[in-house]
Amino acid sequence: MSDKQMIEEEERAIYTGDHCLSCTSCMSNCPVMAAAKEYRGPKLVAPAHGRMHFSEDDTELSLDFCSNCKSCDRACPSGVAVSTLNMLQRAEYYRHHPHSQRDDMLAHGERMAKRLNAIPLGTTFANFGMSIGKSLGIFDSMGIAGKRDMPKYASSTFAQEFKKIQQPKSDKKVVFYPGCSINYNEPHIGVAFVKVMNKNGYEVLLDEQFNCCGSPLVVTGYLDEAHEHAENNVSRILYWKQQGIPVVACCTSCSLMLRQEYEELFGEQAMKDAGENVYDAFEFLEMLDAEGKFNTNINAVNQRFLYHVPCHLKTQGIGTPAVSIFRRIPGAKVELADVGCCGMSGNYGFKKDKYDISMKIGEKLFSRIKAAAADGVICDCPTCRMQIRHGTQTDPVHPIEVLAKAYK
Ligand code: SF4
Ligand code: SF4
Repeated sequence: MSDKQMIEEEERAIYTGDHCLSCTSCMSNCPVMAAAKEYRGPKLVAPAHGRMHFSEDDTELSLDFCSNCKSCDRACPSGVAVSTLNMLQRAEYYRHHPHSQRDDMLAHGERMAKRLNAIPLGTTFANFGMSIGKSLGIFDSMGIAGKRDMPKYASSTFAQEFKKIQQPKSDKKVVFYPGCSINYNEPHIGVAFVKVMNKNGYEVLLDEQFNCCGSPLVVTGYLDEAHEHAENNVSRILYWKQQGIPVVACCTSCSLMLRQEYEELFGEQAMKDAGENVYDAFEFLEMLDAEGKFNTNINAVNQRFLYHVPCHLKTQGIGTPAVSIFRRIPGAKVELADVGCCGMSGNYGFKKDKYDISMKIGEKLFSRIKAAAADGVICDCPTCRMQIRHGTQTDPVHPIEVLAKAYK
């Protein structure tokens, strides 16, 4: 094995456990550990658990507590991919234990959305059924937090809306990766992205061969299915990479999965190569701005925004590009909420047994938002926005929506 191969092998998550120094920094930065006494914490679960030789019948109940927020990864001075090790261990557990009906449902949102969209009025009936199900306590009985509203399906998908948009043709192109949330629940965010890119001289392409990034599958222990999603998505990203066309996402959990987590979880060179062709939407705009190519023909927006930076954006190590771009909007002021994780973490906060933990973690953010009394709350992550709505009765939006509206 060459030195290069050895270094690459060592960089993979499954090997990084050996780099653990037992400093406990991951533990002091874990929001779940602070909120739930029962959780033994990342160091004792991921790096230590990975070194032990458990038999099929052994269980480590703490494995179930991690929300995959990745605060531990960012805190680790030794570069241990703690959360990914947790996910690998969780998947190992589910190789020998059955999944619950609840987890099956939370993991397979894309499957359900596709089925409903294939039936006339399927999503309308589903939205109605979810309201009834909530009031009758059906979700609660399935292990889903009945206090929450399930995300409503949009009346048409982003893919359908996209076909109606008349874009100016351009040699400069990007492929938009909408992810499940934008495609099935919030297509207006994708429409806003297309407008912003068009204003910057880009034509947006949509590749309907992409599927769910696999994040909901990974966190519920369906790793083999997530691997299938990864292989499909990576092959599509590489196809576009060969043509010199970048793939851009507006959901920070999707972009993290496509550019970083696939490679950490599965360690394939193709995943690393594909990850280099994936960008967060504001990261891409910030790059244009650095080259003097960002369109600043923008109307004034005399408002003060409070920005909750999603954990999965922080983990990408690209700073806060939306803040840089908002500096280009005349009159707009942005303050960072800067109080850590919102507690929702994808489908974690939907689990009935994790609801109280999720809300306890979110308390600091809820108080910050209420005290700030900003004109608007912005956040790039769909489930963070759900948590903010639930905990504060405010209505946060994706920053791309603000920018799209502001363009002349
Ligand atoms: S922060 Fe990193 S090095 Fe420190 S205990 Fe956690 S995993 Fe080990
Ligand atoms: S990913 Fe988040 S919840 Fe999981 S161990 Fe790390 S810090 Fe704790």
